Amino acid sequence: VSTPGPRAREEKIVVTVRLRPLSKREQLAKDQVAWECIDDNTIVYKPPSQDRLTTTQASSFTFDKVFGPNSVTETVYEDGVKNVALSALMGINATIFAYGQTSSGKTYTMRGITEKAVNDIYNHIMNTTERDFTIKISGLEIYNENVRDLLNSESGRNLKLLDDPEKGTVVEKLVEETASDDKHLRQLIGICEAQRQVGETALNDNSSRSHQIIRLTIESTVRENSDRVRSFVASLNFVDLAGSERASQTHADGARLREGCHINLSLMTLTTVIRKLSVGKRSGHIPYRDSKLTRILQHSLGGNARTAIICTLSPALSHVEQSRNTLYFASRAK
Ligand code: ADP
Ligand code: MG
Repeated sequence: VSTPGPRAREEKIVVTVRLRPLSKREQLAKDQVAWECIDDNTIVYKPPSQDRLTTTQASSFTFDKVFGPNSVTETVYEDGVKNVALSALMGINATIFAYGQTSSGKTYTMRGITEKAVNDIYNHIMNTTERDFTIKISGLEIYNENVRDLLNSESGRNLKLLDDPEKGTVVEKLVEETASDDKHLRQLIGICEAQRQVGETALNDNSSRSHQIIRLTIESTVRENSDRVRSFVASLNFVDLAGSERASQTHADGARLREGCHINLSLMTLTTVIRKLSVGKRSGHIPYRDSKLTRILQHSLGGNARTAIICTLSPALSHVEQSRNTLYFASRAK
């Protein structure tokens, strides 16, 4: 039995859906729009007329917010992410995910969201005269359960995870830089994004298989002449996930699983962890330790931590099965 009232509501995982416009390529291929956001909370399956009667599956989905093809990232940030992101300034760990099939708009959305959050964080810091803030950043990529440091292209490969009695799971030798100001922080984020693209070129299709985490560690202390000597520290994680087709049921049969390359362990484990967290206390054991991604994020998921999941969706009729899988995941995450 959960406690009613505003606090209980705040602890929920915020799940939103962003439907992108039909791309040039999809238009050229005469693909058609199959989904429509009919209000702020509801997305419906609305295929072209000839396909309308062929489905017996769910055709209407409701979320905290849905964003249509004309929505801008600013709105996605304000309505779906801002409160979660800013809680990290108050010492509450927070994680923002982009989840969706390859080419649905995860990277596009996550980059914009990160930019907006950085603006907001520095605005808050400027307006908070009674506290001193320090912001540190690290960036990593998980590809095939290997952890790569996006701020250390020289030797930051196959990094080990260690269990620290105080900090929990830490990534051994992961570089953490202190940002001197917002410009410097943006530069460091840019380095992480460029490094991920290097991997993308080297390994065909890397971005559909890899997870990127940009982690900001935000510390603050009350200034000396105040009687409250309190310090806060929290992580704010921006997670651009591997393409969700890597976790779909159609790929989860035995043969594929043994091949070990089609399925993505971290993504599968994350979906299980999120589903169990959304069910609440009665869900029993939560398998954080089953994958690198969930181990790294353990302290920023569940418990007191706050989570926002933006599920990105292609509107194309040709992608309808994957879109539906994404919406089913999003529904279970609620
Ligand atoms: P993913 O990271 O999920 O594979 P991308 O973010 O790379 O997908 O997006 C695929 C393409 O669609 C890119 O060219 C991107 O610029 C474009 N795109 C994605 N979302 C939107 C959107 N909301 N509005 C306009 N273009 C978008
Ligand atoms: Mg991407």
